[in-house]
Amino acid sequence: MTGAIYLDHMASTPLDPRVLEEMRPWLAEQSAANPHSAHRAGWLGAEAIERAKDRIARLIGAGPGQIVFTSGATEANNLALFGACGNGIDRVIVSAIEHPSVLECLPALKRRGIPGTVVGVDSNGLIDLDKLEATLQAPGRALVSIMAANNEVGVLEPIAEIAQLCAAHDALFHTDAAQLFAAGPVDVQSLGIDLLSLSGHKLYGPMGIGALYVRDGMTLAPLMYGGSQQQGRRPGTLPTALCVGLGKAADLARLDGARDAERLARLRLRLWEGLQNLAPDLKCNGSMEHGLAGCLNVTFPGVDAADMVMGLADLALSTGAACGSGG
Ligand code: PMP
Repeated sequence: MTGAIYLDHMASTPLDPRVLEEMRPWLAEQSAANPHSAHRAGWLGAEAIERAKDRIARLIGAGPGQIVFTSGATEANNLALFGACGNGIDRVIVSAIEHPSVLECLPALKRRGIPGTVVGVDSNGLIDLDKLEATLQAPGRALVSIMAANNEVGVLEPIAEIAQLCAAHDALFHTDAAQLFAAGPVDVQSLGIDLLSLSGHKLYGPMGIGALYVRDGMTLAPLMYGGSQQQGRRPGTLPTALCVGLGKAADLARLDGARDAERLARLRLRLWEGLQNLAPDLKCNGSMEHGLAGCLNVTFPGVDAADMVMGLADLALSTGAACGSGG
């Protein structure tokens, strides 16, 4: 990729050639097939989208009717937080290390009468479960939004325990799983997750597409108005090629994700050991045991991170989330 060693997969993964191959007809000869049109070309598009939904649902142990396509995880997170408030939600609880597409919803939710509480994390980025439980005990039904895997230090949050706490306190649980699927499938049913966000360009699929899983029986108000597509939950013509690409990427993540994670864990260890040989006073941020295999976040004491990245022109790497660059 532009001659550089690309080390920035938390920002975006490259499109898998097998994904591109399945998208290609929908960008070329079948590109005009509006999947909502009542003719043969449209039906074929609709069929391809149904298959994509099925594949995404299988990655997370859901049913195809529980998948809402969005433009990415940013929109899926917004749809989860604003859309699910109709379920008798009085307040929201989030962790301090959520993506801005969760954290920055809080002031707008507050203006709508839904206050938010931010629960802290420890020095590895792990949520403080005791504080979460104490916060859940306050009056009013809560919507808890805690990410499955952090995009900067790669920490994996204990989503099974969080889901159990939420169930015990009649709270709804949303998880931003945009970064999780490099590690393989999850099962929303057995975990007890009510809402889950994912994003195409974090799992070797295309940019500009994501999805929100919505448990059956939940009310979901749309963010936009103007069409009956996706049962009105997210109006607008579905981009067939992008949906097909996300479906294929989800299938590959389900089949290969766990094996790939083992390979990445070995590579990460090799890189970390190599770096330590160069400079023994480095600090690894986040947790090797509870972290995404593909993420290594390192402090180089006494070195200005931005200067270092500028100086390493042959390496694509980040000093933090691309969405927060400049911040
Ligand atoms: N959540 C997390 C954890 C992310 O890493 C990102 C992308 N940086 C997003 C949400 C936003 O995803 P998208 O780019 O698909 O809107």
